[in-house]
Amino acid sequence: MLPSPVSSIDADEQIRRSKAARRRLLQMHFESGVGHIGGNLSALDILLTIYHDLLTVRDHFVLSKGHAAGALYVTLWTAGRLTDDDLKQFHRDNTILSGHPPARGIDDILFATGSLGHGLGLAAGVALAQRLLGETGRVVCLTSDGEWNEGSTWESLIFANHQNLNNLIVVIDENGLQGFGTTREVADLSPLAEKLRAFGLTAREVDGHDRQALSQALQSPHERGPLIIVAKTIKGRGVSFMENRVEWHYLPLTAEQFELACHEVDES
Ligand SMILES: [Mg+2]
Repeated sequence: MLPSPVSSIDADEQIRRSKAARRRLLQMHFESGVGHIGGNLSALDILLTIYHDLLTVRDHFVLSKGHAAGALYVTLWTAGRLTDDDLKQFHRDNTILSGHPPARGIDDILFATGSLGHGLGLAAGVALAQRLLGETGRVVCLTSDGEWNEGSTWESLIFANHQNLNNLIVVIDENGLQGFGTTREVADLSPLAEKLRAFGLTAREVDGHDRQALSQALQSPHERGPLIIVAKTIKGRGVSFMENRVEWHYLPLTAEQFELACHEVDES
């Protein structure tokens, strides 16, 4: 984990860094010829905020939506935890930067994830272990919204709530889409935040691309149990022809699309 939260920088610099990360993410996926770009772009601002504003050496992070591994690697690159040469190995033969987080090889990654619906249970276990060991750290878990179709995710929440794991922060990347359609079409859970509040938990809804609002929602104290952040995001954020389009859950970029996408990010 990071030595300490990165000190606050002004909004313009934050935007510049977010754009650089977004562009590097596109480049990495284009050069490797792989997809899952839409869900990576929806998660990127959340990951940058978690790593640069929140995590300390005492904390742990679990990426439950493992298909956003590219956004996690890019975020680790912005934090100096991975190099540019590391990113060039993304999705290549014998790489440690696999399409989903690897089980070993990267200190910041505790678990292989991406079989969806399992990350929250892992994170809750680590949070309970921290408490039993008398440690003061927190555990942050990022799930997709589609993962809330999984019974195992709800079981983990029941466990975390029962154990009053107030050292656990759950962030939901609510982009409204999953692999086979909109979340409302596949299995409607709206309004998700209200359902979570019915557990007696604090569930904060926030624009998942507003890094300052996200940072505040993540860091403001809450009373009991795990803190839930429902981050409203846009799948494919920053690239007009990807935004809110389900096919960009899977598609890789053509050379022409890559040029256009980079141009849009640069000009935004
Ligand atoms: Mg989704």
